Amino acid sequence: MPKRARRPRTCWGLNNHDGGPRFVLCGFIYFSADMPRHSGLVVFVLSLVAAAHVPVFGVSQVIILDYHSFLGSGTSSLDFSPAEFAAQLDRFLALGYHFVPLEDALDGKVQGDNNLALTIDDGHRTDWSIFFHVLKPRNIPVTLFIPGFSVGHDRHLLTVAQVRELAAEGCAIGAHGFYHNYMTSQAFKKTPSKVITEATRPGFSIYRMTGKHPILFAYPFGAAGPEGKSAVQKAGYAWAFAAGSKITPVRFDDPSLDHYYVPRTIVYRWNIASIFRSLSARRSSRSAFP
Ligand SMILES: [Zn+2]
Repeated sequence: MPKRARRPRTCWGLNNHDGGPRFVLCGFIYFSADMPRHSGLVVFVLSLVAAAHVPVFGVSQVIILDYHSFLGSGTSSLDFSPAEFAAQLDRFLALGYHFVPLEDALDGKVQGDNNLALTIDDGHRTDWSIFFHVLKPRNIPVTLFIPGFSVGHDRHLLTVAQVRELAAEGCAIGAHGFYHNYMTSQAFKKTPSKVITEATRPGFSIYRMTGKHPILFAYPFGAAGPEGKSAVQKAGYAWAFAAGSKITPVRFDDPSLDHYYVPRTIVYRWNIASIFRSLSARRSSRSAFP
């Protein structure tokens, strides 16, 4: 047995700021009496690759964007014109981001850290034209979260026939409550049955529109208390989504991820510039968010 005189000479561990599963290459170089001379050099080069933050495999992050309507009326911070929305999508693409189906991300089929998943809440009537004129030509997948009752009963929203058509075109359809009431703890304390209704009733109404039971749920107003979360889970949904203005990349392989409170980033007029700044900085540095 040859004598091995092992002594660490240097260390380049990959500083994984975002907790993502970047592959960490060897952090030590060992020298051995029987080791060929070039072996140390190979390990040294591999260490440099790791230090350069080159993702080897295993990284899977998605930023879930949450849009609302496309009137271009200028009356709401959540509303953009179709031309503004198209320009934003093209800018995301130009920055090197890919739009992936949300369901692929949930199924662990997405790799890389430059993924965006597009979601649109509320079932506004402009969803139909935006799909055919902006999303479909760019082959961008979308998940539409619709309030089960309101769709088909409100002239500002999609008709049942339009939801059916969009589902047939491949849009994923998730639930966004039934009447779009709050599902917070405060709302539950006031009227528990209203919160429960938001969770239990949209499933069947969406099934009647699309022929598929929805497994994705987005809380109305982007938030829920433990009672609302529990009601959604009991109603048979596999995933439920919150929403806020913060940019939060999501790792679906993270065991600590709450499947009933997955964060999304609401796109407002007032935060779109900072979203682009952050995404641009992220791409150029290849480092994660602070
Ligand atoms: Zn909403």
